[in-house]
Amino acid sequence: MRLRGPREHGVGGEDEPKISKIIVRIDADNGQFGLGECDDFMGIRRGIEYLHAYFEGRDVFAVNAIVSEMLYGTAAPHAATSRFGEMTPGMNAVPFCSPTATPWGTPIWAVSGVEIALCDLIGKTLGTPAYNLLGGRFRDQVKVYLDRSTPADVTNLDAWEEMAESSCAEGFSQLKFDIDFMAPDANTDVWNRSLTLTQINRIVERLTVVRETAGPDFELCADCHMQYNVPDAIRLAQALEQLNLLWLEDPTPIVNPDSCAEVRAGSPIPICIGEMLCLEQARQFIDNQACDIIHPDVMFCGGMHELQKIAQYAEVHHRAAAFHGNGGALATIAAANVGATCRSFLGVEYHFIETPWIGQYVRRDVPLFRDGHIPLSDAPGLGVELDLDVCRAHLAPGEALFE
Ligand SMILES: [Mg+2]
Repeated sequence: MRLRGPREHGVGGEDEPKISKIIVRIDADNGQFGLGECDDFMGIRRGIEYLHAYFEGRDVFAVNAIVSEMLYGTAAPHAATSRFGEMTPGMNAVPFCSPTATPWGTPIWAVSGVEIALCDLIGKTLGTPAYNLLGGRFRDQVKVYLDRSTPADVTNLDAWEEMAESSCAEGFSQLKFDIDFMAPDANTDVWNRSLTLTQINRIVERLTVVRETAGPDFELCADCHMQYNVPDAIRLAQALEQLNLLWLEDPTPIVNPDSCAEVRAGSPIPICIGEMLCLEQARQFIDNQACDIIHPDVMFCGGMHELQKIAQYAEVHHRAAAFHGNGGALATIAAANVGATCRSFLGVEYHFIETPWIGQYVRRDVPLFRDGHIPLSDAPGLGVELDLDVCRAHLAPGEALFE
């Protein structure tokens, strides 16, 4: 007997939909509204629906109080007239225990998109860019690095060369590739969290083509997607040492700082972790000397203020911060606004260079990318407005715009 389904949700506008986005909008009674972005992962729509209850009657500037309650409260939303909070009508949960007070998954992902929209709204209301809400900027543009994963045919070395060439030609100076997808032709067991020597050799060969094409000054990174055991992750890192990588990312399963610290101790390459972590989880990896670079995502860590707190915690421990980016244009611009305010910031990731509409669904007064960087806009809030033509062209079936 075989299972069927569940059916794929959402449509990303591609022939083979891989990702779809939810645009979040928060309106205030001054006529302003803010925009945020979530991925259409499981349950996020329901999470956003639940978060409505946190906003009723609140001061628009109370972002820390609202977000703290959404992220770390143990009670349901606090209505002005309620001592203990009130559940959204129809929400089936224990009134004294907020479903948002969880460290991972749908609640924090929903809060993240909502918090981005709140920062946009406050910036627009005050007439100042979002980075000024976070203490002001250190830089007027932030570096962006591309995640290219792998070429479609990993065995074709010309395709690796072409990928490096085109990225250099477009002005980018840093690329990341996915270790677990780089040599599936040499993988004999997908379950045992190991890397065979054949796999490692193919990975080194293919990344060497990228290094030789892009040159010695180009930054390269490799992502392990939390796949491997400690000894094989160390063996991989040692084999890659000759390529002078900026970082090796998420070598071991995500929730164990101890094993990651073991990899770091044996790795000649800096270790970068944290794309799914909230502040408290990131703290554990930094405190346990389990990473060199912290790598939170504005869409997964609780939003712009939480992202800044993680980067600042890393800074006072003399660690660098790069920002993981699963965002389209809007979330990437939100992350860039935070990156500009963090002293030890390296750059923000972008995944969707091959899917142009994801970078085009909002407009602003400066381009999304310029010379491998995201220029910051002086416009209020995130400085974006929806490109309704692009949104309409890629609207998922059954969805409507805010018109
Ligand atoms: Mg990653």
